[in-house]
Amino acid sequence: MYKWPFVQYIGMTSTSKSFCIAHAVLLRERQTDFTCALEHLKGMLEDSIEPRIIVTDRDSALMNSCKQVFPNATRNLCRWHIRENIKKKWKGIYDSEAREDFALLWTVLCESPTFDEYEYNCLKLQEMLFKIGKEKVWDYIHDSWLLRDKENFVSCLMADRLNFGESTTNRVESQHANLKRHLNGANNTLHALVAYTIELIEAQKIEIGATFEKSRITLKRDHNLQVFYKLHYKVSIKALTLLEKEYGKLDKMIQSGHTCRHQLRTSMGLPCACEVERHLDTLVPIPLKSIDPFWRKLDFDPVVP
Ligand SMILES: [Zn+2]
Repeated sequence: MYKWPFVQYIGMTSTSKSFCIAHAVLLRERQTDFTCALEHLKGMLEDSIEPRIIVTDRDSALMNSCKQVFPNATRNLCRWHIRENIKKKWKGIYDSEAREDFALLWTVLCESPTFDEYEYNCLKLQEMLFKIGKEKVWDYIHDSWLLRDKENFVSCLMADRLNFGESTTNRVESQHANLKRHLNGANNTLHALVAYTIELIEAQKIEIGATFEKSRITLKRDHNLQVFYKLHYKVSIKALTLLEKEYGKLDKMIQSGHTCRHQLRTSMGLPCACEVERHLDTLVPIPLKSIDPFWRKLDFDPVVP
């Protein structure tokens, strides 16, 4: 028999859904245990794409193992876990109004699109916390997170590295919750855990297969632009939605004379607004090869190099 706290999850994200391809049962949470589980995961991937982005909490043993086993993956910190850590520092009454204000300002800060906006959002959060006498909470946020690790969870500071929009471990946590619901209690045999895990993975695989299929047969009206013509039915719907949004920024970008800072290219592996503009100018549709393989993988077949 084992107890729940010892179960760790390793999740993997596909183009639109998450799937936990491995659930490792660990007796301890030491670096050697994590490394062993991740090495096994790596061995199981065979011809699949290795993880390109890994999001974790700030567990140094886990972070070191990820760095050791998947050195080429971008490693970021989970915003949800950071927020939970901040909440633990919140002594005394934490009324609903303060909670809502904090949640909103924290989210806005994490999603700051430029460094100027990040600095402004820091100031707004600090003001809000000072106003309700939570100076120590601000000190904790500033010293423990912003000063040390902002590059690993604030949007504008993560934008020069691929992250595919992943900023929390929520997808994996929800699979964890699903499995817990299935198991119905804290004590289970390893046999029951394996059986339920296989069941869950099969269900996830069907669900993900359906999203692949949808991307292969659906063309949304907003995506039906000549410049995207070569991408139709060949990339995920989510990728086309992001591109269409980028296309929508063009007028403003041209009028302001600024560039798009190429964030969609660097953080998502998709053509940024200036690339889209060049294709529009030359009347050459965006070729499939300019889309990162992450968005082009619409089946479970091995990856052909
Ligand atoms: Zn650009």
